[in-house]
Amino acid sequence: MSERRRKHWGWGYEDEQPSPAQLRAQAEAISGYLGLGSIDVEQPVPLERASLPAPRVTPPRALAPICLTDAHARASHALGKSYRDVVRGLRGHFEHAPDFVATPREERDVESLLEWCCAEGVAAIPYGGGTSVVGGVEPRVPARCNGAISIDLREMGAVLQVDEVSRAAEIQAGASGPALERELSEHGLTLRHFPQSFELSTLGGWIATRAGGHFATLATHIDDLVESVRAITPSGAWQSRRLPGSGAGPSPDRMLIGSEGILGVLTSAWVRVQRRPTHRAQAAVRLDGWTRGAECVREIAQSGLHPSNCRLLDAAEAALNGAGDGRNATLMLGFESFEHPVDAAIDRALSICASHGWQWDSVQRRGAENGDERAGGALSSWREAFIRAPYLRDTLVAMGVITETFETAITWERFSSFYAETMSAARRAVSEVTGAECGSQRGQARVTCRLTHVYPDGAALYFTVLAPGRRGEEIEQWDEIKRAVSDVLLAEGGTITHHHAVGRDHRPWYDRQRPDLFAAALEGAKAAVDPAGVMNPGALIGAPV
Ligand SMILES: Cc1cc2nc3c(=O)[nH]c(=O)nc-3n(C[C@H](O)[C@H](O)[C@H](O)COP(=O)(O)OP(=O)(O)OC[C@H]3O[C@@H](n4cnc5c(N)ncnc54)[C@H](O)[C@@H]3O)c2cc1C
Repeated sequence: MSERRRKHWGWGYEDEQPSPAQLRAQAEAISGYLGLGSIDVEQPVPLERASLPAPRVTPPRALAPICLTDAHARASHALGKSYRDVVRGLRGHFEHAPDFVATPREERDVESLLEWCCAEGVAAIPYGGGTSVVGGVEPRVPARCNGAISIDLREMGAVLQVDEVSRAAEIQAGASGPALERELSEHGLTLRHFPQSFELSTLGGWIATRAGGHFATLATHIDDLVESVRAITPSGAWQSRRLPGSGAGPSPDRMLIGSEGILGVLTSAWVRVQRRPTHRAQAAVRLDGWTRGAECVREIAQSGLHPSNCRLLDAAEAALNGAGDGRNATLMLGFESFEHPVDAAIDRALSICASHGWQWDSVQRRGAENGDERAGGALSSWREAFIRAPYLRDTLVAMGVITETFETAITWERFSSFYAETMSAARRAVSEVTGAECGSQRGQARVTCRLTHVYPDGAALYFTVLAPGRRGEEIEQWDEIKRAVSDVLLAEGGTITHHHAVGRDHRPWYDRQRPDLFAAALEGAKAAVDPAGVMNPGALIGAPV
């Protein structure tokens, strides 16, 4: 049976790569929007012509049956999915490809692989869906390592058991979003964790990176959905007890959640699952003015209403996603529940919006009694754009457009000045680096913003940059923009990441953000479970590479 192969560069599968004619049509539409004029769409370098370093080590005989050494496996595990990764992949540059890719079938395989890595001084990089946007899976390792392998959990992706009484499920770390939701749906349950990378990312990757789902409030971070975790470290198994809560010292789960592969390979977890929602209500609300919009969102976030969606898009972001005409900020407001109607909640939230001068055309309601009414207009355009975005990005990269995001969070009392400083730093950096005029609506370059998650005490801001790049220099150009905005958002009191993790790319800012004593404590924990220092070296802590 032929297996469906992932693209060796960019997002998705080989059979989803648009044809040259489709690429051209997509590119012309984007070019018209950005006013780029005539464009040249670069074709990806075929795998046969890609540059891969010679492997430094080969699989030991006992593990050979679960190891892949071919060019496709090595290239497709060499990079994550950030903009700089997609550019390098398109051009066939896989400088740090793993020496081979191991695909363990069971924990015993993971143990054997880690034993071999420790004995040989070879770095072990846990790999879930490879959707890291921070260099988390790139085998860029210190010179002391004699090689580097990717440990791909794809063969360990089953839902092992469902406890319907406690509403929890034990799931293997390699389960992708669609795979685990498919199995849970047979029980009428859902994990209800939907990051934008849902299609390809995995439970293990979500836990390792403290991923954020697309719901705006309450249990949307994987942190809150984890009941217990199991990992294989070079020193043995780390398994916590299943408990709904515990005050017994620092949490062993929390230590693994966000560990980014530096402590061990997560192999399974018990996660909290829920009944599938049946009641929904949603509306797209318009307002003239981002700051006034943010004030209204704060009031909703502090009202105790807990919307499932409360995404504020600035006017340009709304236009970019087909959710607005470019004149108004748009709030995507939604509520859902498996248990009770949510009409009262959305009506209350809309009355808060009305008190701030917001307007909306209609409220879409779906409940057990009024069937499956599909969202239309701005709501469905936005959802469609959200799902399509990773695919579209490959086209933008092929057009030479710099297309990347950065995300952060800040408390409400600093929100306005933080937003203003970060946005103006981003626009200034984009203009200086690319030479393109950069505004919200005018010019060939755009920086837009949306609030992705809201809390009673603050919000997460997510910025998108679109700008014409100089062919061959795009990565340096993006790195310069990223450096400038990261310096500002850190100086203004924000975090270098709200949900994208640290990896290798965020190290310079994370190292300034986290307390030094915390880093020393984490180093101590790593030394206890990984004395040979083989687990994902260079990510999160230790000497940067
Ligand atoms: C288009 C796009 C949209 C995205 N949207 C979101 C979003 O909405 N929310 C969000 O939070 N993130 C998002 N991301 C970032 C990324 O998808 C997340 O970081 C995700 O959690 C990574 O999961 P993964 O399975 O792909 O992990 P990988 O990319 O394979 O790995 C990420 C890190 O986790 C470690 N790791 C992976 N599996 C294991 C394991 N079993 N044991 C130990 N360590 C492991 C790796 O070593 C690496 O350090 C997005 C990325 C892209 C490209």
